[in-house]
Parts: sequence; C-alpha cells; structure tokens
Amino acid sequence: MPTSDRLPAVEIRSLDKRFGQREALSGVSLRLDAGEMVALIGASGSGKSTLLRHIPGFVTGDAGEVAVFGATMQSAGRIASTIRRDRAQVGFVFQQFNLVGRLPVITNVMVGRLHASPWWRRLMLRFSREDRQAALRALADVGIEETAWQRASTLSGGQQQRAALARCLVQQARLVLADEPIASLDPESSRRVMELLATMNREHGCTVLVSLHQVDFAIRYCPRTIALNGGRIVYDGPSAALTPALLGELYGSAAHELFEHARPAQAQATSAPPPIAIPSPT
Ligand code: ADP
Ligand code: MG
Repeated sequence: MPTSDRLPAVEIRSLDKRFGQREALSGVSLRLDAGEMVALIGASGSGKSTLLRHIPGFVTGDAGEVAVFGATMQSAGRIASTIRRDRAQVGFVFQQFNLVGRLPVITNVMVGRLHASPWWRRLMLRFSREDRQAALRALADVGIEETAWQRASTLSGGQQQRAALARCLVQQARLVLADEPIASLDPESSRRVMELLATMNREHGCTVLVSLHQVDFAIRYCPRTIALNGGRIVYDGPSAALTPALLGELYGSAAHELFEHARPAQAQATSAPPPIAIPSPT
C-alpha cells in the first residue's frame, strides 16, 4: 500500500489526560514517520505509559486526537468505531511481561494472528498450520525457537520479551509500542531486546516507539528521542544531543534518574530530524 506508507505512523494532536487532579498528559503533540525508531524517555510518573496506552486506544484522552497510519484511533475522548481493525497494525510490549504463563510459548505467539482469523477460530483459540508455521518462524527470528512448546511462565524475563516481540512479528504489526521493555532485565538481556527492536525496525520495516527509563539505551539505539516531564514534551530531537548538561536543564535534580548508565559519547543519530524547540510551560 504505497500511499499509506507516506502517512505518519503516529500522529497525536493536543492530547490531554487527567487522572483526578493529576495532569498525566498536557498538550502532547507528536508525529512519527513510518520507519522511525524513537525513544520516549522521562522519569517515572512523567507520563510515558499513559502516552503509549493512548495510541492503540487502551485509554481515552480528555481532549485531542490520535491517528495511526492515517486512521483515527481516538478523537476528543472517544474511541473510533474502527479501532478493532486499526489496532491490528499495532503491537504492544509491556514492561510487565504480557504472556499467558500457563499456555505454551507458541500459543502466546500465535495469538498475534487472531485478528486475521475467522471469529470461530478466535473464540476457540484454534490455530491453523500456517499460524503454527508463522509462529515458529517468528520464534526463530527472535532466537528462542527451542522454547516453543514450554509454558510461557518457564521463560526468563528476556525470553518473555522476545516472545512478545515474536507475537508482534506474526501479527505483522507495522507499529510496535514497547513500554519499558527492558526495565526488569539484566544488561545483556536488555541489549538483546534492544537489538531485536532495531532489527524489527530495519528489516521488517516496523516503526518503533520504545519508552526507556534510562537515556543510554535511547542514545545507542534510537536516532530520535522524545522526552516527557510532568506530562509535557520537553524535548523532541536527536538522541545524540541529550548530553548530561541538557538533561540537567530539562529535568533539574531529577536528571540523575535518567542517566545512571549513560554513555552519551556513543551517539549515532544520522537520520534524526532537527531538534524542535519546545516552549517551556509557564
Ligand atoms: P510513567 O510511565 O512515565 O512512569 P505514567 O504514565 O504511568 O508514568 O503516569 C503518569 C502519571 O499519571 C503519574 O502521576 C501516575 O501516578 C498517573 N497515573 C497513571 N495511570 C493512572 C491511573 N490509572 N489512575 C490514576 N493515576 C494514574
Ligand atoms: Mg510507565
């Protein structure tokens, strides 16, 4: 579909969200082009998960609009009637692993194909030979083919995240939203999960938006970073420019939370867009 490739993968306009008195998101606008790999950073409570959850319409905003590849997902606090169809393009990976522990890994992965199945198959969790083959291929792609018939609960954290990414592959998700997918992982597993996201971006053409608690992985893997503070975008530009000094400016004393392991010198931000100056909130 050549025309839809030119549509922005994500377009958010003036999104606001309150939880009671708390402003979780305030005037958030952003646009991701198809094919980008973008980091979303911010201290805990800055609104990363809330923002990600608005994109597939798991949460409705109080105001604003969200579209994915040109399809409206929500507008002015209302979920679009076409959301089921359009959500099929979006893969989601959570910080807390989102597999069904008692089911085999392969079943968890095949669930990614359900949107393409007739309703009776969906209802019965019945899968075809092609579903099984696609799941095995995806598990091989993420390097854990041998775990296919184990219960998901027996996988390590890193393997579970890779299985969740395999599910995005069989789903043929064009947009992958990953909410702190490496927060609970050791450094080596973190690296492998980030490498895999980068491969999905490069080789499968997935647009990736990944929230990260720490900025060093953003700098290493994502040309562009969007930074949130108190529910507002405070920076949107090349990850390479996120020096400790700039993070200090953006976050003040909370900055240390973000670059505990930062290695800003390793930046690679060749295809990043120019930085956008964001007016600071008054
Ligand atoms: P992050 O993912 O960056 O840690 P969140 O998006 O989880 O931040 O949270 C942003 C703010 O919104 C926080 O102050 C949090 O307490 C609040 N919040 C998030 N979800 C809810 C909810 N379901 N009910 C009430 N407050 C919430
Ligand atoms: Mg979160």
